[in-house]
Amino acid sequence: MNMISVNEARALVEKTVLPVDNWERISVAKGINRVLYETVNSPINMPPFRQSAMDGYAICVGEHTTYTIAGEVKAGDSYHPTLKKGEAFRIFTGAPVPNTANAVIMQEKVRVANNRIQLESEVCINENIRPIGEQVSRDEVALKKGSVLTPAAIGYLTTLGITEVNVYRKPNIAIVITGNELAPPGQNLKHGQIYESNAQMLTAALLQMGHSKVSHYKVSDNYPQTVKVLNNVIRSHDLVLVSGGISVGDYDFVGKALDELGVTEHFYKVKQKPGKPLFFGSKEGTMIFALPGNPASALSCFYMYVYTALQIRTGHENYALPIVTARSLSHCNTKGDRVQFLKAIYKNGTVEILEGQSSAMLHTFALSNALVRIPEVVDVVEKDDPVAVILLPIN
Ligand code: AMP
Ligand code: MG
Repeated sequence: MNMISVNEARALVEKTVLPVDNWERISVAKGINRVLYETVNSPINMPPFRQSAMDGYAICVGEHTTYTIAGEVKAGDSYHPTLKKGEAFRIFTGAPVPNTANAVIMQEKVRVANNRIQLESEVCINENIRPIGEQVSRDEVALKKGSVLTPAAIGYLTTLGITEVNVYRKPNIAIVITGNELAPPGQNLKHGQIYESNAQMLTAALLQMGHSKVSHYKVSDNYPQTVKVLNNVIRSHDLVLVSGGISVGDYDFVGKALDELGVTEHFYKVKQKPGKPLFFGSKEGTMIFALPGNPASALSCFYMYVYTALQIRTGHENYALPIVTARSLSHCNTKGDRVQFLKAIYKNGTVEILEGQSSAMLHTFALSNALVRIPEVVDVVEKDDPVAVILLPIN
């Protein structure tokens, strides 16, 4: 297959990945960022009773302009006084409005003297009374399938007394690290070795998205072992992220192994820098991304493709990272024949494109909170030019 464009590659991910047809029941309190797999109906009217929206006086609107204060209802009282003609009840925000009252007058709008209130302006019927079920009625839709459990949504469901909901199931994820040169962190390096860092980096990126069902595997640059490990992990996970071994070197065995295992290739090689040798395939519902081993390439590909795939899979309708236009603080030569994703610092509508964009280096990435997307036709970014900025989920 020929190299495809970034837009084609992203479109293939969006077309191929489907929301998982499976759910788990979780506690609402622990549901941050999860997506509802079911439409949730309200089990109660909210508010459940006529509620005062103000601190003031409950009255029955009529001919009177003065009322006698006959008592008080506080928030939490289950007291139902009956208002007699010309009587007002002191009432507070959140308190149940007596059945016989039809308005709550704000305390700022009355004059109080000798246990009587004098109205200073006109009062409308039902003023400052939240009617029963104003927000949602019993058996009405509270939140639709596909809603994200934001802090507000968690609060809202809790106001309805809902404690558990069905959400899209989270995927089991495998990270497979290839590379004979990689030594585990914490060990002394032999000549020719470097520390393995992609497993920790990708695990952290996944954790930040709320994914913690992540297993790690390591294979050496050896064909039979690569086939064996990939075969096992593809069977037992929903998403497999392979690091390294997907390029064209003599010891890059991942592509050949995926082919032997009958993985359907959706694309291999994207016209982008970094991250050209990116592979995306699937087998029996398992998504497989083979990421280039260079750490900055692997992480760019994660944000541009894996992030979207995971968001779609877990039911998010808003599945891409946000893109904004910002004014470049940097002058930068960008001549090339591929789309470039440049590590950058976005701050209050401006963006600084950083030096040191090599895909082998993470230092620049570690300082960044954004990627600037440069189209392949652009040869230079001038200072003050507007550029497209992808905001990473670390802002
Ligand atoms: P590869 O994609 O396997 O050809 O690797 C490209 C470059 O990335 C090589 O310099 C590798 O040593 C380096 N690399 C590959 N995997 C890792 C990893 N897990 N951690 C750190 N560096 C890696
Ligand atoms: Mg390698």
